[in-house]
Amino acid sequence: MEKIKMPTPLVEMDGDEMTRIIWQQIKDELLIPFVELNTEYYDLGLPNRDKTQDQVTVDAANANKKYGVSVKCATITPNGQRMEEYQLHKMWKSPNGTIRAILDGTVFRTPIQIDSIKPVVKNWKKPITIARHAFGDIYKATEYRVPGKGKAELLFTGENGESFRETIYDFEGPGVLQGSFNKDDSIISFAHACFQYALHLRQDLWFSAKDTISKQYDHTFKDIFQQIYDECYKEQFEAAGISYFYTLIDDAVARVIRSEGGFIWACKNYDGDVMSDMLSTAFGSLAMMTSVLVSPDGNYEYEAAHGTVTRHYYRYLKGEKTSTNPVATIFAWSGALRKRGELDGSQPLMDFADKLEQATFQTLNDGIMTGDLCGLCEGITPKKATTEEFIHEIRLRLEKLMAQ
Ligand code: NAP
Ligand code: MG
Repeated sequence: MEKIKMPTPLVEMDGDEMTRIIWQQIKDELLIPFVELNTEYYDLGLPNRDKTQDQVTVDAANANKKYGVSVKCATITPNGQRMEEYQLHKMWKSPNGTIRAILDGTVFRTPIQIDSIKPVVKNWKKPITIARHAFGDIYKATEYRVPGKGKAELLFTGENGESFRETIYDFEGPGVLQGSFNKDDSIISFAHACFQYALHLRQDLWFSAKDTISKQYDHTFKDIFQQIYDECYKEQFEAAGISYFYTLIDDAVARVIRSEGGFIWACKNYDGDVMSDMLSTAFGSLAMMTSVLVSPDGNYEYEAAHGTVTRHYYRYLKGEKTSTNPVATIFAWSGALRKRGELDGSQPLMDFADKLEQATFQTLNDGIMTGDLCGLCEGITPKKATTEEFIHEIRLRLEKLMAQ
């Protein structure tokens, strides 16, 4: 069989620990035998980030901008303990944060569903995608404890000297104080990314905030979304048969639980943080959650939502065979290859991405799965596989699908 050609490179960002091992296994078993893999490779493993003073992360993000699509392996975000473990020169920033700052994107997370793992919420038939605004609010807030009686004020001094001052509270005793912000630019990018991704998936877009209470802050989000929708996307949405609607976060939560799924739920930073954990758990497992960063100018970065699975890696280093779930990483590859195919007009590449996912679903539906999923299954008797065995079972099914 002739291998599928890739005229334009895909940006490949390698990573750390267990996911780095899985990364290579996926390439060797599931990709290279079928596709003439044309990737521009960046090693974002922590040792190379340290060696290049993190320049490799910046270069990879810029390559993503150049070629439009990348696929990323999970990476370590260093902390004190990692500084020692890897003898680092510096506590490098989170690669995802660096990439996000360069691409200016929004993160979309979607669960991968299979029949034998029922969502906790019975009526969810289709996945729900969370779009999290990954900038500002409490994540960039300034806060401190108020020691005692006194007045707290909110002061803004403009470049031209003009200022606004409002009393926040006249404290009669000790308490807490927090100042948070967001920028129109960032909210506008967030809105564009959400509308574009809804068109890409052909799914309805919901956006929720608390504008009834937060009459300036959250209301600004609501107004910007509405304005961008009316000006740029209304016609395209109508043509695609999808809709946009805004609702209060409380109402959204109630509707999400009663829904069938199959839509995108755009959330402010904190809401998205909390709700994505709720959704991934309710749909089954973090190891079955895909993640894609979409920038307002149409760049895509695909990855798994989970981390480098350190605990399994330490067992692997001792020579143990682990049963680490590679599904979200496989879907990061299939998502990126499909997008590459779409942008290049390559039907064979798009078909391959579909078949790779199909083979993965077939394997899972045949009850062959990694340990994390075995306990969640209903209606079938699962057979626990090591990562290698699981990937090999996918390979057998993929070969059949490719021969058809
Ligand atoms: P993690 O790697 O997601 O793993 C946490 C636990 O979840 C694992 O110990 C495992 O549970 C389970 N798990 C996660 N993915 C799994 C999979 N594919 N198959 C089976 N089980 C899976 O999170 P972490 O341990 O908090 O973080 C480890 C490293 O990853 C950190 O250095 C962190 O900085 C990094 N991280 C990177 C990203 C990213 O690059 N996007 C995201 C998050 C974290 P059991 O041990 O109980 O089996
Ligand atoms: Mg969280």
